[in-house]
Amino acid sequence: MLLRTGALINGQWLEGARQFAVTDPSTGAKLADVANMGAEEAEVAIAAADAALGPWKAKTAKERSNILRRWFDLLMANVDDLARILTAEQGKPLAEAKGEVAYGASFVEWYAEEAKRVAGETLPQFDNNRRLSVLRQPIGVCAAITPWNFPLAMITRKVAPALAAGCTVVIKPAEFTPLTALAAAELAVRAGIPPGVLNVLTADSDNSVQAGKVFCSSDKVRHISFTGSTEVGRILMAQSAPTVKKLALELGGNAPFIVFDDADLVSAVEGAIASKYRNAGQTCVCANRIYVQEAVYDAFIDKFTAKVKTLKVGNGFDEGVVQGPLIEPAAVEKVQRHVDDAKAKGARILAGGAKLHGQFFQPTVVADATADMLCATEETFGPLAPIFKFKHEDDAIAAANSTEFGLASYFYSRDIGRITRVSEALECGILGVNAGVIATEHVPFGGVKQSGLGREGSRHGMEEYLEMKYICIGDV
Ligand code: ADP
Repeated sequence: MLLRTGALINGQWLEGARQFAVTDPSTGAKLADVANMGAEEAEVAIAAADAALGPWKAKTAKERSNILRRWFDLLMANVDDLARILTAEQGKPLAEAKGEVAYGASFVEWYAEEAKRVAGETLPQFDNNRRLSVLRQPIGVCAAITPWNFPLAMITRKVAPALAAGCTVVIKPAEFTPLTALAAAELAVRAGIPPGVLNVLTADSDNSVQAGKVFCSSDKVRHISFTGSTEVGRILMAQSAPTVKKLALELGGNAPFIVFDDADLVSAVEGAIASKYRNAGQTCVCANRIYVQEAVYDAFIDKFTAKVKTLKVGNGFDEGVVQGPLIEPAAVEKVQRHVDDAKAKGARILAGGAKLHGQFFQPTVVADATADMLCATEETFGPLAPIFKFKHEDDAIAAANSTEFGLASYFYSRDIGRITRVSEALECGILGVNAGVIATEHVPFGGVKQSGLGREGSRHGMEEYLEMKYICIGDV
């Protein structure tokens, strides 16, 4: 009963005049035909969100909190079914999908709690005839455009704070993974989220572009939150200029992972594996470039490669599988292009290096990588670990920062002075020191430089959806 194929607009499940197919990336089999909504339906969804805004923001924070809490409970009560839908359309191993459902739900729990903690301010007056205060009010109708790599968590991370703040939302989920979004929306309806407060506009890739244009040009939409490629982030930013929208952008990364010669190598290998191969390398915080200091270079490579060779690739529903397929054929081609380019420029392929059947790619290790290779400058978004050798701490910092991106960084060291220096020098929004997986709901997640604007999660994630109003009362 969680499997919905219609778009959710104003509380109605609409099948639409046209559909698009959603397929299983492990098998290529069609899973469902989903409503393919265009510009016109985007307008209708925005109008519904606009009409629902007044009553929703008029609810007390506690009322909104209770509804969100019920949604959280339903998400957790349906972990198994949600995870099955997620693995079927996205490909990640079932255990990882269950982890994502719990992670995604945790944002709903957190913001159900935070809803009650939005407070204003009283400020000292500059003359005794006046009283000064600050209100924090919901920004209004929000649009969210989300990617396929975390089909649930990228939605709840935006929707939960928006709804908690008193905003209403239109979500446009990724064309590869609309079924998880619709299943989560079905549970939101059951939790009592009123019609129009949460709308899900499903669309294929062409219609997604059209929906994006409608969101950006709408006067009613006051905020756009986007997670996806830097290229599309730039388009949305440009398109939003005429209506001067507030934007939250969580864009691409090119995460450096540095192993210094004083690191605990066993822990560094474990962290690198977790950071690199999670979701088949398809996360914006996956280690994209592994820098290893001279003295421990060979030892790290031996241990790391041995571990990589044990990773089981296959259908996410099969027992013991830790790496599923890539999302589409073009993703497989990109990884192959990066491997071939590295090979041609002198790198050594120590594990994998080739495509398997369908959309599966071998977990790959490339040693002696250099700055001129594609894998150094582009985000591979696949199971390829290029390893670079460096001499001095400053060289590693310079190499790590030599990118327009600044999302996640990681480094391993046990020297407190070095930990302090390198932590301060790396240009990034999130940093793991002796830790390869660091995201959770109550920390601010986001990037610097061309990795984006704003933060999601934590109390800071709520600020996105609130506007301050300074009030000066005179004649007191
Ligand atoms: P990825 O590299 O993760 O596939 P994209 O940036 O292409 O990232 O896609 C992320 C989301 O942005 C998806 O929901 C997709 O449909 C949507 N999208 C892609 N192009 C546009 C666009 N021009 N306008 C609005 N949304 C878009």
